[in-house]
Amino acid sequence: MNNMLKFLIDLQEIDRQLFEIDKKKGSLPEQVEKLESQAASVKSELEKSRLALEEYQKELLGLKGSLMDAEAKVKKYQDQLYLVNTNREYDALTNEIEAVKAELAEGEERQLLLESEIEKLEAAIATAEAQSSTFLEQLDSNRDELREKSDLTDARQEDLEKQRAKLVKHIGPRYLRKYERILNARKRAVVPIVRGSCTGCHKQLNPQTIYEIQQMDAFIECENCGRILVVLPGDDD
Ligand SMILES: [Zn+2]
Repeated sequence: MNNMLKFLIDLQEIDRQLFEIDKKKGSLPEQVEKLESQAASVKSELEKSRLALEEYQKELLGLKGSLMDAEAKVKKYQDQLYLVNTNREYDALTNEIEAVKAELAEGEERQLLLESEIEKLEAAIATAEAQSSTFLEQLDSNRDELREKSDLTDARQEDLEKQRAKLVKHIGPRYLRKYERILNARKRAVVPIVRGSCTGCHKQLNPQTIYEIQQMDAFIECENCGRILVVLPGDDD
């Protein structure tokens, strides 16, 4: 048998096994990547919400202090009202009281708004935290699954790739290119003939071509599909 044909048959078997390994690994790496980016985005949203919450809480604390001061001021002014002697003093104090009360009303409105915002943010943070932990769990489980599958197949893949590299050295670049071109287009590049037909496209071959293939010392392509034709032991009758 032409050695080149034998090498190509071996190469195709190695490529088939490598393809199966690739298929087995499936889309897990992409799934892990997607989950990682989703988890990162949930995490960054969570960070933003936590910062906003902190700001609101700080403001609320300050506001409550100011409101207490204002209330104390109103009470103090009201007590002073009993002590004033002139109408002018009385009017001045009353004006003061009105101004502080207006401040108080404004502050209380802001307090209500802040409390409602804080409540909303706390709910959003709780949801995001739950979402984030679900994502991370899924990510961990997919990663473990991928690692398990990879461990089993990595060694085999490495071994096959070493064999392939060795084999490819025996095949000239011209034949290798031809083989790879057909493989990419047709899935199988080297096919046996069975009962005088190409098993790639089922085209019946003429007796002269069959005879030449049976000699197995030339590189013969199917005139219909372009695949490289060989005879495997027991395949031809
Ligand atoms: Zn064919």
